Amino acid sequence: MARKKNKELIDLAMELGGEEAVEVIKALEKKKEATDEELAETTGIRVNTVRKILYTLYDHGLAEFKRIRDKETGWYYYYWRLDTKRLPEIIRAKKMAELKRLREMLEEETGEIYYHCGTPDHPKLTFDEAMEYEFQCPICGKMLMQYDNTRVVEDLKRRIEELEIELGLRKKSRKSGGKSRSKKKGSN
Ligand SMILES: [Zn+2]
Repeated sequence: MARKKNKELIDLAMELGGEEAVEVIKALEKKKEATDEELAETTGIRVNTVRKILYTLYDHGLAEFKRIRDKETGWYYYYWRLDTKRLPEIIRAKKMAELKRLREMLEEETGEIYYHCGTPDHPKLTFDEAMEYEFQCPICGKMLMQYDNTRVVEDLKRRIEELEIELGLRKKSRKSGGKSRSKKKGSN
């Protein structure tokens, strides 16, 4: 498997089921096809956990299984394998969802003025909410000031732009310092 694709798969596995999911995926990749018990044995992860991970992968279209009946015992065995055909599609869908979330956050930040006491963990209140509390922080009682969200907005815009470029929804802009960066690269 290509290195970039592999990294994306590992990142996704990490997100879906942590280190144990990564171990299961690596083991599956090596074996090509394996039962849950075999995977539990190879990874040292409990078979129930392995099964849970496999079904999560299956739900996300990243694994498939074959059910085979043992003629002697009559038991069914599930042979699992990785299925990474849909990986690019899954990654893209995740990025699109992230983009949607960031756009909503940006809308929220730019559409409303917030009031805040200055302590990072304390809530940001809308004007109406701040009025209710007579412009005093409901937690510490300090005076609420209009919250300067310039940096948050800039950060959101930057992340949105990066994602849009990654997703091919926007061309790389030339003015954002790209020139000096490419110069540096060339001199190495
Ligand atoms: Zn406060």
